[in-house]
Amino acid sequence: MDFLPIFRDVSERTVIVAGGGTVAARRVEIALRAGAHVKLFAESIDEDDFAELRDDPRLEHFRRCPEPADFEDAALAFAACRKYEDDRKIADMARAAKVPVNVADRPELCDFIMPSIVDRSPIVVAVSSSGASPILARMIRARLETMLPAAFGKLAEFAGDIRDKVMARLKNPENRRRFWERILEGPLATLVFSGDEDTAKTLLERELTAAEAEEREGITGEVYLVGCGPGDPDLLTFKALRLMQKADVVLYDRLLGDGILNLVRREAERIYVGKRRGDHTVPQEEISDMLVRLAKEGKRVLRLKGGDPFIFGRGGEEIEKLAENRIPFQVVPGVTAASGCAAYAGIPLTHRDHAQSCLFITAHGKDGIVDVDWTQVLRPHQTVAVYMGLRLLPQFMKQLLEHGADAALPVAVVEKGTRADQRVVTGTIANIADKVVAAQVESPAMIIIGTVVTLRDKLAWYLPEEGAEEVTQGRFIGSL
Ligand code: SAH
Repeated sequence: MDFLPIFRDVSERTVIVAGGGTVAARRVEIALRAGAHVKLFAESIDEDDFAELRDDPRLEHFRRCPEPADFEDAALAFAACRKYEDDRKIADMARAAKVPVNVADRPELCDFIMPSIVDRSPIVVAVSSSGASPILARMIRARLETMLPAAFGKLAEFAGDIRDKVMARLKNPENRRRFWERILEGPLATLVFSGDEDTAKTLLERELTAAEAEEREGITGEVYLVGCGPGDPDLLTFKALRLMQKADVVLYDRLLGDGILNLVRREAERIYVGKRRGDHTVPQEEISDMLVRLAKEGKRVLRLKGGDPFIFGRGGEEIEKLAENRIPFQVVPGVTAASGCAAYAGIPLTHRDHAQSCLFITAHGKDGIVDVDWTQVLRPHQTVAVYMGLRLLPQFMKQLLEHGADAALPVAVVEKGTRADQRVVTGTIANIADKVVAAQVESPAMIIIGTVVTLRDKLAWYLPEEGAEEVTQGRFIGSL
């Protein structure tokens, strides 16, 4: 982080603005909106830009340059002069008086920079690109403008008005937080947005009484078993994101893509229960017990799973324990690795000319030995997606050949599918194992077997030359 974002109280304080143009006028306006007294220094001011500001009694206009004495007791200073020299002088004076200064379009002279603002007072959202791209910050601001209803300010005011009452009636901070989350997201918020504060107050009373009862009788937690896809955070579902934002504690493992954990509520406790092959950090049994225990403590427990929880995710085992213990839970499906990898590698899993069915199997049998029904795997017009198969790839291919597979049958291995560093290696049953070793493919990797793999050359027309890399559809697809 290059700058520390803070909100500065300038009400009833003096803010210095130097300059008479559009930018100076914007600074005057925002300082007045924040309750400051503004001392404006400018030989002349732009009539249009200042038209609505000049009659404000809190604005004092001096037709001269500021002097060191003007900065005494000022809270902030803004410079937006035409000449660099003038700006620099003002910045020097401000700094000598220990007043933080901002100089428009001259980052090297600034103590602080101005964010793009979404004003839903008392809610204020400030966006900054740390000076790297103010236009991008403005675009983000525009998006936020459309996401936050104009009445958000009203809701914040409503919450502010009842804050003391809620504090007095709900003693447990955890309980209070849940209460706030419930009312700020639910029907009560809708009532406030629509201006029906009377009905909102009736509902508030009901909610408060219910929350008091919960405080007396204790609350039961719940578990969210959430699939978050193979890696790209954009593949999360809305439901997954909503529950991630609600959790009190999160249990996660290694299969999660970068950036996904950042989307979990910041205050949630994070517990790593990662499992590596042959190195079971936390045994499955223990994870299930932990889910039960945390939920019994009244927590909202988020169990994040790579891909889909019910596809080779042992989700079934985890909720079995929950059901036995009568713990409420929700299961949220995710994009499973086979379909994520297929889509991002340009390989349709089914296709009228190639495959009428698709089999999801794992090559990781009991004790690491491949334990599959070979007749089923070798059925024609079918695609086979193999999970957890990287280590056993040579054995798997050998067994396929021994059971009569065509040595020329195409195979793709997708490494770190859907992630920024995804790589795809293609070959045949006969040579894929060697190619994978040569390319030093790492886990996680998905093996896709079938003639659909040949479609990649046709569909992924954007693929670069052999061995090259190119940005396509916003991500790298390396072809080996
Ligand atoms: N529940 C998960 C699968 C867990 S099993 C799902 O539905 O996707 C773990 C296996 O999934 C890995 O060994 C690998 O074969 C596959 N896998 C998971 N994420 C992957 C990714 N980003 N790229 C390629 N394969 C992946």
